[in-house]
Amino acid sequence: MFLRDKMSATIVQPAPPMEKQTTVGNYFVSNYPPFSFWKPELADEVLAAMERPPKPNTPLGVYLHIPFCRKRCHFCYFKVYTDKDSTAIRGYIDAALKEMALYAGKPVIGGRKASFVYFGGGTPSYLSVDQLKYLTDGMKKLISWEGVEEVTFECEPGTLTCHKLAAIREMGVTRLSLGVENFDDHILEINGRAHHSKEIARAYHYARELGFPQINIDLIAGMVEETDANWKECVRKTIEMSPDSVTIYQMEIPYNTGIYKEMKAAGKLVAPVADWEVKRAWVAYAFGELEKAGYTVGSAYTAVKSKEKTKFVYRDRLWAGADLLGLGVASFGHIQGTHYQNQHDFETYVKAIHEGKLPVFRALTPTEDERLIREFVLQLKLGQVSCDYFQKKFGVDVRVRFAEPLRTLHDWGFGEVEGDKVKLNRDGLLQVDRLLHEFFLPEHKNARYA
Ligand code: SF4
Repeated sequence: MFLRDKMSATIVQPAPPMEKQTTVGNYFVSNYPPFSFWKPELADEVLAAMERPPKPNTPLGVYLHIPFCRKRCHFCYFKVYTDKDSTAIRGYIDAALKEMALYAGKPVIGGRKASFVYFGGGTPSYLSVDQLKYLTDGMKKLISWEGVEEVTFECEPGTLTCHKLAAIREMGVTRLSLGVENFDDHILEINGRAHHSKEIARAYHYARELGFPQINIDLIAGMVEETDANWKECVRKTIEMSPDSVTIYQMEIPYNTGIYKEMKAAGKLVAPVADWEVKRAWVAYAFGELEKAGYTVGSAYTAVKSKEKTKFVYRDRLWAGADLLGLGVASFGHIQGTHYQNQHDFETYVKAIHEGKLPVFRALTPTEDERLIREFVLQLKLGQVSCDYFQKKFGVDVRVRFAEPLRTLHDWGFGEVEGDKVKLNRDGLLQVDRLLHEFFLPEHKNARYA
């Protein structure tokens, strides 16, 4: 049970603020403190961090943002370009390699090899086989992938041929993540997705034949015009394909999406997608069906077929404070305790690199307490957190440090402390991102993630 003093045990907590409708703004908490607190004037802190050798046993990850897509999805809030030709793409790859070279010789690397690599986007699979080979050969020369635990590669099904998938497997990808999102062609089309349903089956079949160790399917609960019946069919088809893991996000509508622009033009405050209760019910249904099929729910967004075999190294290392070299336009990184984000404009990013400068746009070095909050809230997305881990790492009993928000969660009926573990129930897990703000410092509560 939660720590509670005599007085507070008698206080009845008000019900949690329930935002029912989907309005504009971010739901997903991807880091802490919120990005709006990262500042350009703190960018030099990254330069200082590069000069310090790593703390012993800190794993090193590499994230590369590939900002190219065939079309811009109407719900997309990432930095992506749909108009770059092969010369611009080659220029971008060269810039990313140069950026990596700026880090490679610095004390921060300290002779470490990459323990995980992540190609995110945008659409990494938009690159041609030659571009991919050139890029990954170059990366491996700068920071070795030897002994790497996981290499993740995000794909848009319509960009995959058997030849390209073979090349992706050949370059050492262990985890292929297919951005399926939905199986209905009409829903894919009206949400601006570039792929069609038949391309999903084809790409998945090729990928299975090539023996990727882990194939993940991404779904979105609550795309425009989603219905109960169609969602059930999406879940059925996913289970029939039998991927190693399934990731499900609840549709959010941040400010820089096409959907928000249309809402604004029409003077609408509510997005034309299902409300939060319905989206949560859809994820609950999917998790329930996946569990019946033998999957285990491992976080607020993921279910895995085999708990023993299927790991999420990138997620788990990052949420436990690993170093991450974030390369490419608008990428997020974290080295030696300093968060940073790169320039988010293509030309500005490439220009900085050509001038031999780190393309860092903004940064923040969190305090020890903020680092503790960061790891706690991110790990809470797994559904349970070990108090012992925080005691050993930060010398803090999180049951005491977070006594008040833990009591609130308990009173709202979303979780409990059981011995060494802080645990969320399924209801709490399905809305974890909004609950995490309870653990934030007052000045960060409900701040914008932009
Ligand atoms: S494929 Fe992904 S990154 Fe590209 S536009 Fe769609 S949502 Fe954005």
